[in-house]
Parts: sequence; C-alpha cells; structure tokens
Amino acid sequence: MQYISTRGGIAPVSFKQAVMMGLATDGGLLLPTAIPEISAETLGQWRGLSYPELATAVLSLFIDDIPPADLRELVEKSYRTFNHREITPLVKQGDCFIMELFHGPTLAFKDVALQFLGNVFEYLLKESGGKMNILGATSGDTGSAAIYGVRGKERINIFILHPHKRVSPIQELQMTTVTDANVFNLAIRGTFDDGQSIVKAIFNDLAFKEKHQLGAVNSINWARIVAQVVYYIYAALRVTKSEGAEQVDFSVPTGNFGDIFAGYVARRMLPKQIRNLILATNENNLLTRFILNGDYSLGPVAQTSSPSMDIQVASNFERYLYYLNGEDAGRTRKDMDSFGASGSLQFDELAQERVRADFASRSVNEAETIATIRDFYQKHGYVLDPHTAVGVKAGLAGREAGVPMICLATAHPAKFGAAVQSAIGHEPELPESLAALADKESRCEVMAAEVAAVKAYVERHAL
Ligand SMILES: *Cc1c(COP(=O)(O)O)cnc(C)c1O
Repeated sequence: MQYISTRGGIAPVSFKQAVMMGLATDGGLLLPTAIPEISAETLGQWRGLSYPELATAVLSLFIDDIPPADLRELVEKSYRTFNHREITPLVKQGDCFIMELFHGPTLAFKDVALQFLGNVFEYLLKESGGKMNILGATSGDTGSAAIYGVRGKERINIFILHPHKRVSPIQELQMTTVTDANVFNLAIRGTFDDGQSIVKAIFNDLAFKEKHQLGAVNSINWARIVAQVVYYIYAALRVTKSEGAEQVDFSVPTGNFGDIFAGYVARRMLPKQIRNLILATNENNLLTRFILNGDYSLGPVAQTSSPSMDIQVASNFERYLYYLNGEDAGRTRKDMDSFGASGSLQFDELAQERVRADFASRSVNEAETIATIRDFYQKHGYVLDPHTAVGVKAGLAGREAGVPMICLATAHPAKFGAAVQSAIGHEPELPESLAALADKESRCEVMAAEVAAVKAYVERHAL
C-alpha cells in the first residue's frame, strides 16, 4: 500500500515512510491510495479472531512493508499492556453498547494507538539505525499516553511539557511517576498555551530539529488512525453477531477528528455492517455546525468538563475534506489555504448533502453532559466519564430501533473525578493502577516557560 498527501505535493511513499514522515512534507496529511472493501468471505474469517489477531489482519491490509511475523509481534506487544483480555470490551447498558477503550496503561483510548505507534517507531529506528527525540506539550490528558507509548524504548527519548501545578494531581502523577531513563517531564511555570508555543518555536528552528531528529506523536500520524480502525471492525463483528443485527451505529466523542475518521475508514471497509457515524461534540461545536449547516468556521475555545474535546481546529479534518472533494488534492490545498487565511470554509448544498450522508452530529452542552452522567448512573449503576457522556447523549438521541448503538468510551471515569463527583455526588472508585501512583517515585524538572530554557534542557538530554 502506498500513501499520498491530501495536498498532492509528494510522490507516493510506503507505510514505513509515512509513519516516519508524520505530517506530509507539503503540509498535507497522508492517506492510503485505496481503502479496501472487505469481502463477505474475509469477514466470515475475521469473526472468530481475537483482538490482536484481528488487528494483525486489518493492519496488514495497510502495511505491506513490515514482514507479517514482525507485524504480529508488534501488535501483540502493543496490546499485552492492556488489563482486559478483550482489549476493547463491549458492555451492554440499557439501549446502548459501551465500547470500553480505556483498559490501556493510562486508562484512555489514546493508548490503543500510541502503544502501537511507540513499538513501530522503535522497530523502524532499530532497522534504520536512527534515533528520535520526541517533543510535545500537554494540557494534562494526553501527555501520559504518549509517555507510556515510548517509555523504556531504545533509540527514543521523550520530552513532554506540562503547565506546572495546572494539571490535576492524577494527571501529574501519571506522567511524573514514569521514571524510565528516556522519559523527561518538564513542568513549565506557565500555561498550556505557553508550552505549545515553546514546542512550536523549537520545531520551527529547522537546524535544531534536524540536529536532534525531533519528532512528534500528535494525532495526525497515519499509524494512529489505522490502529483505531481495528476496534470499529471488532465491535461491528461482535455486536452484529450477538444481537443478530445486520448493521450497527457508532457514536464518537470527537475533538481532533482522528477517532471518527478511523470510523469513516472502517465504514468504507464494511459499508454493509456500519451504518451511521454520529459525531458528538461538546460546546466546542465547530464540527457539528459543519455537518448540520455546512459552516466550518473558527470560534473561541470554551473550557468544558471534557477537556480532550476542547478543540476548534480539528487536525484530522483535512483527511475527510480530501474525500469530500472527490479526492481532488488541488482543491483540498486551496480550501486549506483559504481556511488558513480566513478561519472559515462554507460548503454548498451538494457538499452538505454528502456530509450528512456520511455523518450525523450533535453538540452536547455542559448541563447535558453532567445530567447524562447522573441519569446513566441512576439507571444502570454505570459511571461514564464526561467525554463518554457527550457521546452517549448524542448516541441515545440518534438511535433507531433495530440498529444497535455502540458508544465509544474514551476515558476511565476516575481520570475525571471532579466532574463525576458533581454529577453523582461521589468520586468514582480509583482503579488499582491509579491508586498505586501516589506511592511511586516521581521525577520532573520545573523550569521557566522560556524557549531558551527548554532548548538547553533538550540539548543536554537528547539522544
Ligand atoms: C483525544 C480524546 C478524545 C477525542 O478524540 P479525537 O481523535 O481527537 O477526536 C475524546 N475523548 C478522550 C478522553 C480523548 O483523550
């Protein structure tokens, strides 16, 4: 399988090249030249597979430059760190299925993709004899998944900036108790935005970037998307079988459009089994406005109880735009340029019809999110985290009789204890792995929120 850019400015590359490239060198995003539709016969063979077996089968359709035995080993290694035998189990609660994507080491769905990406990076760097220094900034939620993805890996160091004392105690512990020699937590005396602009400034110093082989683990890496495609297929196979149904719907709490785009790819592979994809947003509803009204225009970022969805510019949106534009890279590049200049794109009636055929959508406000956590707990005794609650609210509203609704649970509720407490009156039970963090040794460097300070630190500790 070859990969091309949504902006058409690069010659096709292989999977390995696509992973190491991350962002295409023309500023676009990488996509496979084709998305294979799965035959009924193959699907029949897939039905009985375990999660790692299915993952290997699905991934091998997109990855033909890693030998099958090696790919299988990478997959198995990636999901051995999960604490549930089924990796992404489904639990039926009333009118919907909750797909629990939070059984990885940091109890959030990003582990599903980042455990795999970390192993792929290590494998490819070993092969090429290269090295990588990963640099990123976090507001607290996603830094730990990146850290756990590469902790202890050879040829990789990771530097993650977080705003000092402005992340929750659990988030801080999840990051700083990883004391592997290749992990560097930098607590900067400033805000998340300061951290992001420092990282941006360092990446813009091309000589520095080149010298230290700086890399990123953001959500635009194709390896992350393809790893997420797997659980849609896994769930569709399980639930159609257990319910005797032809089709299923999914509801997806959305921020950067990565997870829902994986669902879009999965539906192109299984068009008969996957029907509706519901894109659920919190009060940051740019994508909902796009789907319902064809209006893709930037607004201010609002802070909500589902912070991993407090996003306006969704970094993976361009991948869908490319398909919406009939795979016309020139037009996609023009659209992105014009969005960059004006912060807005408008779509005509014809495009809007196509978008509405691809996605349903609903924006869920704060009061509804908290009420959903409360109602769901009262009805089923099951605690939703606020991100999952946004998806459940949208999913239950968009549900149709006879079609099972699968709601993606993207974080363990204990990671967002304060919001849960406000809904149900008490904090969710801490899973053992989180409770144990308080007693662990931790390591963290506190420093000024200055480019020069961070650069000097990276310079000293880079591979
Ligand atoms: C990242 C994240 C999301 C949003 O996923 P995208 O792929 O960015 O759309 C939702 N919930 C949680 C808990 C997350 O960490």
